[in-house]
Amino acid sequence: MNDCIFCKIIRKEVPAYIVYEDEHSVAFLDINPISLGHILVVPKKHYERITDMPEDYLKEFMASVQKVAKIIETKLSRDYNIVVNHGSKAGQIINHVHFHIIPRYGQEQLFIWTTHKLTEEEAEKILDTLKGV
Ligand code: 5GP
Ligand code: ZN
Repeated sequence: MNDCIFCKIIRKEVPAYIVYEDEHSVAFLDINPISLGHILVVPKKHYERITDMPEDYLKEFMASVQKVAKIIETKLSRDYNIVVNHGSKAGQIINHVHFHIIPRYGQEQLFIWTTHKLTEEEAEKILDTLKGV
């Protein structure tokens, strides 16, 4: 037993508006939605990050994410963002893997990014780090 709120939702100890459920995953409405139909898709087994999940299980889970995305497309006919936060600096509050599927109606304040043109120096440096041994 653990205290994870999403595990409690999966075990049906805490109520949630469940949109979709299968062997590997549950999808339910976010309690504080960015937009109407904001859904969280969670694997039934507790993992903190996708990098913790066995590859086969991740594949099963991603098939569930795709099914929920299709629900948004067919039932809401909306564009949507799929967002996954990993770690506190990235905004992860619940340490159980969850994919946000956020329908877009046009008014949502989401992803206000500050960007700059990538310089050659930056690119070479970061590639060294990412690809280096
Ligand atoms: P994170 O910031 O970790 O990516 O997102 C966690 C999400 O879980 C938030 O959007 C938050 O509103 C949602 N959430 C937190 N607690 C509950 C809960 O008890 N029930 C539901 N349905 N959603 C929750
Ligand atoms: Zn959990």
